[in-house]
Amino acid sequence: MVVSLILLLNGHKLFAKENNKAAKSTESVNNLINSNQDKELITNKLYGDGFVYLVFQKDGFQTNYLVDYKTGEEKNLEDFIREDKKSDFQNKINELLELKYPKFVVEAIKNSSGNRTYSLTDNELVIEFLNVDLEFAEETKLDLKINFNEIKDYLTFAIETSLEYENENGYVYDKNKKTIALTFDDGPNGSRTNEILNILEDNKAHATFFMVGNRMASGASTILNVLNHNCEIGSHSYNHTSMKRQKLEEVIADETKTEEIYKSITGHDLIYTRPPYGAVNNEIKAALTNYIINWNIDPEDWLYRDSERVVNHILEHAGDGDIILLHDSYDSTVEAVRELLPKLYLQGYQVVSVGELANLTGNNLELNTIYRSFKRN
Ligand SMILES: [Zn+2]
Repeated sequence: MVVSLILLLNGHKLFAKENNKAAKSTESVNNLINSNQDKELITNKLYGDGFVYLVFQKDGFQTNYLVDYKTGEEKNLEDFIREDKKSDFQNKINELLELKYPKFVVEAIKNSSGNRTYSLTDNELVIEFLNVDLEFAEETKLDLKINFNEIKDYLTFAIETSLEYENENGYVYDKNKKTIALTFDDGPNGSRTNEILNILEDNKAHATFFMVGNRMASGASTILNVLNHNCEIGSHSYNHTSMKRQKLEEVIADETKTEEIYKSITGHDLIYTRPPYGAVNNEIKAALTNYIINWNIDPEDWLYRDSERVVNHILEHAGDGDIILLHDSYDSTVEAVRELLPKLYLQGYQVVSVGELANLTGNNLELNTIYRSFKRN
């Protein structure tokens, strides 16, 4: 039988080390394999000098065993964590969870019954978290891939690891996921803008802030904080006058003024403009040297100042590729964002800036064009 041959090879290695005990272990591991004879053995691997990892497969389902090679006893991965390193191990898991998932998901995992399954690859420990109390719209696996390099000091056995490795990248935006851009106009608005940035960060979300030029100098630290949170900034004119009511030269002069202030604060150029009220004509459109970004979802947060209304409007109307208009000027909008982002996440959406939305949906931005949403190409 091919299966026991592989194991015997491992067994020989062990035998040389620990004579009778090892021979015995082979027997107990063999027993386990024999009792699973109706399944296909697809993994049979000795990790360090600690345990044998067996994976059986039948009808597309896999069964894993961690087996102590000395006793043949079935183990849980936690049995192989050094007693004095258990809290370090747990901290590492929490740290990587926070990199990968929104805060509310991490909290739900921590508050769950704690059921986990472990599986192993050549370089990684994969943990799947079960019975987490979250209502995802679609089936969603909550898991973590931890490179052995991250945890080798916590294990009771030595393990060979490759020096070069990639861990979980944390949260990565995905071209195949439904995507929405959040935009905030009329700032910077000090503490409200900064609180929105915290909420975005907690939810692995980004946004684009369209700011008014004459507010920028006094809001310089907020502007820098926006960039620190990997969010984007665009022009929302110099003093929020409708461009349609200005002479073209005034429009251009105001845009230039706004860009100069922005550049003096950040060292960067602005590449987006959202005209106040979205008001633009063909002449202005052709003259602007930034990409023009309007919106297609407007919950009128400035009018109703009602967070529940804003959240419901967005959940009812917004879909993949849409651009949502909000204002970081109202406490009710801050609260709306706090409620909205977990709901969108559970619905399977990722929330990003305008530039990220264009990129993820495969759109190249062009001048002399008014963008209201980004449909997939
Ligand atoms: Zn505005």
